[in-house]
Formats: sequence, C-alpha cells, structure tokens
Amino acid sequence: MATAVRTLLLITASSPEIQRVRRRRVLNFQQITMPYLAAFVPPRWTVIHVDEVVRPVDFGLRVDLVAITFHTPSAPHAYAIADQFRQQGTPVVLGGPHVTLMPDEAQAHADVIFAGAAESHWPQFLREFEAGRHRQRYSSTEPPTLEDVPIARKDLFHRRDHTAGVLFATRGCPHHCDFCTLPVMYQSRVRKRPVEAVADEYGSFPGKVIILWDDNIASDMEYAKSLFRALAPHRKWWSSQASIHAAQDDEFLELAARSGCKQLFIGLESISQASLNEVQKPFNRVSDYARAIERIHSHGIAVQAGVVFGFDNDEPAIFAKTLDFLEATGVQNATFNILTPFPGTRLYHRFEAEGRILTRDWSKYNSRADVVFRPRRMSSEELLAGYEYANHRFYSWRSVCKRLSRSPVGLPWTLPLNLAYGFASSLARFQT
Ligand code: SF4
Repeated sequence: MATAVRTLLLITASSPEIQRVRRRRVLNFQQITMPYLAAFVPPRWTVIHVDEVVRPVDFGLRVDLVAITFHTPSAPHAYAIADQFRQQGTPVVLGGPHVTLMPDEAQAHADVIFAGAAESHWPQFLREFEAGRHRQRYSSTEPPTLEDVPIARKDLFHRRDHTAGVLFATRGCPHHCDFCTLPVMYQSRVRKRPVEAVADEYGSFPGKVIILWDDNIASDMEYAKSLFRALAPHRKWWSSQASIHAAQDDEFLELAARSGCKQLFIGLESISQASLNEVQKPFNRVSDYARAIERIHSHGIAVQAGVVFGFDNDEPAIFAKTLDFLEATGVQNATFNILTPFPGTRLYHRFEAEGRILTRDWSKYNSRADVVFRPRRMSSEELLAGYEYANHRFYSWRSVCKRLSRSPVGLPWTLPLNLAYGFASSLARFQT
C-alpha cells in the first residue's frame, strides 16, 4: 500500500525588527539549518522552506507539519507564527538556538520542541509523528556525530547573498567565553565531518565564493590543515570564522591561503585585556593582536574583526581607541556588536544575579539596536552612541582609504565588502 505524501513546512524565522537591523548589513548569508535538516527528511514528504529574509510566511498553505528555527531576537515573532498555525490545527515543532537555551518557554508555543542538535532525533521524530506517537520534547545531551551526515539541500537555499554556496565542516568550539551561546548549546564539544565529504560538497558548488559556516575553523588545527589540503584543488575562494589561534600557526595560514582562503572572521572582541579576562577569553592577548593581524595579512588573507562593546571594563574612551587600533593595523572589515547577555549564558546569569538585566523582551536582544543590560562604566546611551560611532567611522571614506591603501590583500575582495558595509552604514544613519 502506498504511503500518503505529507507536506512539511520549514521556516527560518526572522522578525521584522531583526530584518530592519540586518538590512543595514546588506550581506545576509544563507542560513544552512533548514536546508540541512531537510536532507534528513524521507522522500515521502514534500518539503517547503520559507526563509523570512526572502519571503513572508503564507498561513494559507495546507501542510501537515510546521517546523521553525530561530535565534533569540526573533523568538517572540516565531512564537506568534507557531501560535497561529496551532490555532489553525497544524502541529508545530520548534528548535534552534533559542529553544535550546530556553526550552520551557518554547514548549508553551509548540507541540514538540527540540533542545540541542536537532539532527540526533529528527528522523526518529518524523517516524513517530507519522505513527501518531511522538514525544513533546527531544533533547540531545550528547551532540550527534557528523561522520555520515547528508548534504544540505541546495534547492532550499533562497537567499541571493553573492556567494556560490555555504556549507560547514565542523560544529562547536572548545572554548568557554562567558557571553557565547556555543558552550551552552554544544557543551564546548567540537564535531567534525570527514574531510573528503566536505571537499566533495565544496566542489559541488558551481561558483567561486564559498562560506564555511563553521563556528571556529581553527578549533582543531590538524583537522583544519587536512581540510585545506583537500579544498585546494577546487581553486575556489572561501571565508570562515576562526579564533585568534589561527594566527599562531604559520602552516595553518599557509595551507588556508593556498586553498583559497580570502578572509577570516577573527573574534578579537576587545582591545582591553581586562575586558577579555572578565569574560573568560584570556587567550586573546591584546599585546599580540597587531602581530597576529600582520601574520594573517602576510598570507594574503583579509581580517574581519569581530568587536564587542559594553564589557564591565569598557569606558567611553574604548570606542575611539578601538577604531584607532583597527585603522593602524589595516583591518579590512569589522563587525561591531553591543554586548548582549543571551539567556542561558554565564554572562546572563551573572547580570541577572547583579540585577542588571533591563528587559527580557527577547526582540531587543539584537546586539545592534538595543542595550538590554545596565553597563558598568558608561550609560546605555553612551554605549549605543559609541557603537554607532564605530560603524560610521570604520566605514567612512577616510577610514576605508586609510585601511585599504595599506592592505596586502587584493582590492577585488576587500573593496566590494567595504562598499557594501559602508553603504549599509550610511543607510542606517539615513534611517535613524
Ligand atoms: S572562541 Fe568564539 S566561538 Fe569559541 S566560545 Fe569563545 S566566543 Fe564562542
């Protein structure tokens, strides 16, 4: 007897507020969670993926099951979507970072929740759902192996993000920074896909520019080096995220460059050593930063600096000092964030114990437009103004010319990114 075809609607939720904030970034890279999860779904299901960055959810769609993934700032919006589908009689599954951090809260808006890495129980859940005997909660205490994972479904990539494709080689990071959600989500474990499988998927994208969506591509140096050797023959360009350890190993940098690495996002976080120590990131040594950036540059790799403002040791002077440093070292790109104590993190628990959490309206946990805690050595207004100042100064023509004129990295990579971010920064100023 033939099994009836069922329809699954996957939603990558993004609230209107977060889209307004992110629109300033111009470059919104394809999120891989749902196309990856779709690859686990048996062929007897029809799968639709709505990425809210691209198009809105159509509540008139007739589907058998809805699954929604979201980050903290989109949580209230995702709950509203879930509530509406459930009112219409469609069962809803919730998963993703915020659900893992706040499972009990999410449970109130769902028939089923996934806490932790969803792929551990996802195929089992679908079988149980079809048989009408699924559970309300699937928790993965032990993140699953990535030894034999399927390739994400490219037909469900919907964003036009100027890249040829996105994929991941590893998941997780071994470090324990207080403000980061990864140690909570993955218990500081790092999982790795087989190198050959990653290289095959990487080579399967027809275009040139690839994003490796790894949390920290430098979390296992020997694995990374094997991976770079396998990627090199494909002669593509790639970019990924790495901890500062990437800059401490010349062989890593050399192999990365030879395999087509054009840019590394490095979480510098702060140029204040006291601030780094305060959030358990003491392995970032500010005194070594300039040399680290120089070493990365010497291999023809651009640096995108991840910078956070608002640590307890940050004073109002931190903004100008940070910009002076980034310009002096010729950093090609930077992403600035307002410190945000995401629920479940050690930082959140500390601020909560100190009575410094100003709001639990998760839509304000966007790291870019709102300050959600009481800073120690400046006001919320000063923090917000300093963040805006950093964006505007970094992507001003004066700063772009200063940084890129001394850049050892080719303009075909660095200039378009600076123009895109600079345009976004001007747009933000125009809108505010
Ligand atoms: S090094 Fe980066 S990814 Fe790893 S725990 Fe710290 S902030 Fe998170």
